[in-house]
Amino acid sequence: MPSLFKIPVSQLWGIGKTKETAFNRLGVYTIGDLLEFYPKNYEDWSNTLCIHDACIFSSNYNNTPCCVQAKIRRIYEPRIVRNNMTIYKVEAYDEYNDFMTVTFFNQYYTYQKLIQGQEYLFYGVVKINEYGYQMASPSVLDISNMCIHPVYPQTANLTTKQIEFAVKQAVNMLPEKVNDPVPNEILEKYNLCELGYAIKNIHFPKDQQALYDAKQRLTFEELLILQLGMARLKGGRHEETAHKIKKDFSREFFKILPFKPTNAQKRAIGECISDMKENDYPMNRLIQGDVGSGKTAVAAAVCYSAVKNSLQCAFMAPTEILAEQHYRTFTELFKDTDITVVLLTGSMRASQKKKIQEQIKNGEIDITIGTHALISDKVEFDSLGLVITDEQHRFGVAQRAKLIAKGNDPHILVMSATPIPRTLALMIFGDLDLSILDEMPPGRQKIDTALINSSMKSETYKFIKKELDKGRQCYIVCPVVNQNDENNLVSAEEYSDILDKTVLKNYRRAVLHGKMKASEKDRIMREFSDGNIDIIIATTVIEVGIDVPNSTIIMIENSERFGLSQLHQLRGRVGRGKNKSYCILVSDVQKESTLERLKVMCKTNDGFEIADEDLKLRGPGDFFGARQHGLPELKIANLSNVSSVENAKMAAQILLESDPDLSMKEHRGLYAETQRLFEAVGSTERLQ
Ligand code: ADP
Ligand code: MG
Repeated sequence: MPSLFKIPVSQLWGIGKTKETAFNRLGVYTIGDLLEFYPKNYEDWSNTLCIHDACIFSSNYNNTPCCVQAKIRRIYEPRIVRNNMTIYKVEAYDEYNDFMTVTFFNQYYTYQKLIQGQEYLFYGVVKINEYGYQMASPSVLDISNMCIHPVYPQTANLTTKQIEFAVKQAVNMLPEKVNDPVPNEILEKYNLCELGYAIKNIHFPKDQQALYDAKQRLTFEELLILQLGMARLKGGRHEETAHKIKKDFSREFFKILPFKPTNAQKRAIGECISDMKENDYPMNRLIQGDVGSGKTAVAAAVCYSAVKNSLQCAFMAPTEILAEQHYRTFTELFKDTDITVVLLTGSMRASQKKKIQEQIKNGEIDITIGTHALISDKVEFDSLGLVITDEQHRFGVAQRAKLIAKGNDPHILVMSATPIPRTLALMIFGDLDLSILDEMPPGRQKIDTALINSSMKSETYKFIKKELDKGRQCYIVCPVVNQNDENNLVSAEEYSDILDKTVLKNYRRAVLHGKMKASEKDRIMREFSDGNIDIIIATTVIEVGIDVPNSTIIMIENSERFGLSQLHQLRGRVGRGKNKSYCILVSDVQKESTLERLKVMCKTNDGFEIADEDLKLRGPGDFFGARQHGLPELKIANLSNVSSVENAKMAAQILLESDPDLSMKEHRGLYAETQRLFEAVGSTERLQ
């Protein structure tokens, strides 16, 4: 129904400027968008209960509301109880002559419409007390509304009832026969209903079965299109590569590496080299390894072989601090070789950038390390053959695509610490091959993690002092930069004053946060790395990637403010060397569920386990959201439902076997839909 995506919602009856803006805020601009704005829930007004059964139902199911059909026998006079509170009461009885008292608070509008002797549907919770059955603040409709009603996500200026009213009009605008992108053959094979039926019933289900069928069908379609889009992303890459390498230089690299690589690192490096050396198409690989598993060394090894085979490399990190750190690691590692490494970040002086950009363009530079600055249009390469992105989940699919477009189909290596179960990783990064670093470098010990409250802090400072006296270093993490940001939270800028009153007053400290100038951040990180600072007081700018193996303690203030995966990342800043390390979570919150969550951190050091808990607590919507992975936002399907994902994957595979670029007439609809889905993340240029 392409044309409905061209008609703005303001064409509907009852939608003026204010409502239109509200709809836009929900991402709804056109009638088509509105039809795809699915209810988040339903109220079942189709199954009415008698008053007695409703009372039992509500008490059995945790005060779940239900629908009661009853006739009004008596309407009481309104009673003003306080200045701004009026209570309206009516008495309604059902077919068994049971009656309930229905109370409305300030709901004059509902009340004034009720007529004595008339029958209505009351949707609410029935309770019983010494005066008999009671129902407070129900929704009331006349009995022609005996059906399942949608409940939409609301926003300011737009109630679910108003959305329902608009959707009803939109549904009526659907043509007799809605163009279905899913071919008949597939509908039949998977026993799915038609698109028109699905749209009508997802909003206004005829009954529970129709709702189920509609959900099945729309979920399947969304996943199928996602899979087809991903496959096309991958398929597009199966072109012959101009950057095949001739020789593996890993042995030579291991000689300059200051430590022995783990078997997992060797395996991952081997897989990358084989991709670049043996395959006719470019490498496209994800390295997934928990914090501290040594992903940087893998990146360096792959760069080394690439450069020795005359390829230029680009290495993109999500923050300046991290880019600078990688730059230091690489220059140190390659200092006795002829490999040239430069750093390119947004905060560098224009003249400096210009000079470096020229060198990159001339091919004088082998490895360019940087932030988003690398994808600026000004940066051109001579022969970009390998692109590495670190902490991939921070970059969108679109940003990655832009960097790739700078080379002539370069090899791609993506590194991520986000531990996602393997099947899901393959799904999310469907266009990538996967290597897993499942082994930590030798000598690592479990990081002891403790949860404390403020009253134990002076003891903790003493403990930190002991570590510092052994020559170790420490991080203290605060949730905000300064007190102005949010009251009652421990802030980084004021923390030094706090430490002045403790046993830590004589140690060298520095503050580090995102609002500081990049050059200043860099200077502090360098000083810390060189051992000239004992304590870094930081915000979460240190969350990603920072590597100073001599630091053995991280103390996190207001730790209840952080998600589990984030805490795991932060904790990963310590325990990166041979020394026993500690993580201290400070929280004065007493809420049981918060404490339970924080205790997960004390129980395990395993990123996969923590990710699972996080998934359970936060729900998959957030975890797999577009923000994290640059995938298109899904409207109805849930990626954590592995079996429906698998089903769609199979269907996509079979389809693509017979028609790899979806050019057959009956697949035109699917082609258009993949295009539309991926437009949202701006990566259609790669969907050719
Ligand atoms: P991450 O996977 O979190 O990016 P890094 O690459 O920063 O981890 O490595 C963490 C630390 O472990 C670094 O100090 C690095 O030098 C060290 N390291 C990496 N591999 C090994 C190894 N095989 N043996 C000893 N230390 C290693
Ligand atoms: Mg890293």
